Order: sequence, then structure tokens, then C-alpha cells
Amino acid sequence: MKRRYKLILVAGARPNFMKIAPLMRALENHPTIEPVLVHTGQHYDEEMSELFFSQLDIPKPDINLEVGSASHVVQTARIMERFEKVCLDIQPDMVMVVGDVNSAAACTLVASKLDIKTAHYEAGLRSNDRSMPEEINRIVTDSICEYFFTTSKDANENLMWEGKAVGHIFLVGNLMIDTLIRLQELAGDERRLTQIFPWITERQGPYVLVTLHRPSNVDDSEMLVSIMEALQRIAQKLPMIFPVHPQTRLRISEKGKLYLIDPVGYIEFLALQKNATVVITDSGGIQEETTFLGIPCLTVRDNTERPITVWEGTNKLGPSEFCVGDSVSGGQSTVAAYWAHSYCRLYGKR
Ligand code: UDP
Repeated sequence: MKRRYKLILVAGARPNFMKIAPLMRALENHPTIEPVLVHTGQHYDEEMSELFFSQLDIPKPDINLEVGSASHVVQTARIMERFEKVCLDIQPDMVMVVGDVNSAAACTLVASKLDIKTAHYEAGLRSNDRSMPEEINRIVTDSICEYFFTTSKDANENLMWEGKAVGHIFLVGNLMIDTLIRLQELAGDERRLTQIFPWITERQGPYVLVTLHRPSNVDDSEMLVSIMEALQRIAQKLPMIFPVHPQTRLRISEKGKLYLIDPVGYIEFLALQKNATVVITDSGGIQEETTFLGIPCLTVRDNTERPITVWEGTNKLGPSEFCVGDSVSGGQSTVAAYWAHSYCRLYGKR
């Protein structure tokens, strides 16, 4: 009988699940590869984890490391300690990580130390901003990983620039968008939107969708206050829906037409994106999803590791202009420009 190769796939946090789902589907009943799904438990509750497993049809993880929340260092250390035991026990042929979360860097380091082959999906993305914890994870993961699966040509170029062997780099496309394509019909069902926010379907009007979670935006109080002021100015003109992390929610309040809701499931969020006039975000994945959907996106950051969304997509970076001055009535700022652009789109004048 042919030997089956044991492949450990690592998932840890919300943005990983959209990438793991198509991989697990492709490996279902595979003749030569035996997948072992390890959930590190970086995200662990119903809202940020379990709901995604059921909506995206991901099989229950074979192993859950249950590391939970902690500082980046403690969390990374906990994952490493627990993942080493898993590797020693399972003796995999290869460990594959996805994205740029702590789990990716921690598990690649463990596997490398144990002389197990390693692969990284979404390799080669670089924001060149080392103040982002995710950028550190990308650099650490790619510097010791052996096989690189990429989403865009610029990622291949970054890896080649860093001296990686060309034969170990594979441009495979975007798994997150594969998930989006598979589930977008379900997201077209209006009842989904009515459930989350009845107002949207009752009024059927334009709205802005907001997500913010980068530490540089939400952990720095001064920055958060200025972003919220800018958002509230826009919300005077267009209603705004902000699915917000509970910890950030404690520090901001609803005002005017700015509506704060709990984070929503994948299909519900996709429905919110598809129907939004403009999306304002600091998320990596949402820059790609809005690009695919053709929805204008304003990214509240100075840089992006996904420049293709700016070159070829609907994304625009808008950090400093976003936070100063009267963006909406000023007419020249990034937000105002994008706001106007979105209106044109709404009335078919794109
Ligand atoms: N997302 C979701 N519910 C929400 C907000 C986001 O399902 O309330 C999805 C979104 O569609 C995308 C992913 O989460 O697929 C992006 O994850 P996140 O912004 O947490 O991480 P990043 O992409 O910045 O690493």
C-alpha cells in the first residue's frame, strides 16, 4: 500500500479560517496526503472561531492547543511549547501555516527546529513596516520556511529579492477569494442582512461599513479618538455600520448614524460588504475582498502588504488625511474623494 504523507495544517485566528477551508476541502479523501488540522486557539470563542468552522464547513480540528489570549510573546511561546508535543507525537512529513498571525511564525519555528519540512501559504507579502506585529510574523515565517505559496507576483518578487530558491516559490492565487466565490450566493440572501441589521433592508439606502483592529489604530487612544472623530463626521452624511471588537467597543460610543454591532459571521459580513457603498478598514483580508467585489475601500494605514489591491483594485490608503481636518466638507481629502467616488458608483456614474 502507498504510504500516506502526514500534513499538519495550522489555523489560529479568524483570517486563517477562510484560507484553511478550501485546503481542507481539496484534501478530503486525498489518496496520498493525510491532513491533520491543528487549531492553536489564538481565537477561540463562538463569534471569532466556532461560527466560522460551521459556516465555512471546516471539519472539527483534530487537535486544539487552546492557547487563548495573552501578550504576543506569551502566546507565541505557549503555541511553540504545545505544538512541539504535537509534532513529536504525530511525526508529520510537513507543517503548513497560513497568513501572518503568531501561530504561523510559532509553528514554523517549531517544525524547523525538529527538522520537519515547512510550507507557508500567503508567503512573501511585505508592508515593510516593522511596527506591525504581523510584519514580524511574515519575516520570521518566510526566513526559515522551505516552500512558499503566494497570492500575487509582488510576493514572488519579494521572496526572490530575499534570496529564496525560485523552484520553491509557487504562485497559486487567493484561497480567501475561493471561499468568497463559494459562499457569495448565500450572502446574497437578503434575510441575512435583515437578521443582523433590519435597518439596512428596510431603508435599502447607502451605508459605510467599518472594521478596525490594528493595534496602531485601536490601542493608541489618541489615534482612536481622531479616527472616531473622522468617522463621526462621515456618519453625519452616510449611515455607518461598525462590527467592533468587544475590547474596542468599551472605548468608543455610538453617535448619530454610527451604529456599533458585534463582530458578525463570515456570510453576514460578506453580505454587509457586497451591499456597502464604501468600506473603511485596516484589515488585510478585507482589502482583497473589496477589490474582488469592486467595492471602494479606504484603508486606514500608511502602508499595505497587499499593494496589488491599490494598483489593480479598489483600495486606497488614507491614513493622515483621514484623521485631520473636515474630511467630508473639505472635498480634497482622501475620505471625501472616496466618498464622492462611492456616490458616483451608487448612481451608476462610475
Ligand atoms: N470578517 C468577518 N466578520 C467580521 C469582520 C471580518 O467574517 O465581523 C472576515 C472578513 O470577511 C475577512 C476576514 O474576516 O474574510 C478578515 O479578518 P481580519 O480583518 O480579522 O484579519 P486580517 O485580514 O486583517 O488579517
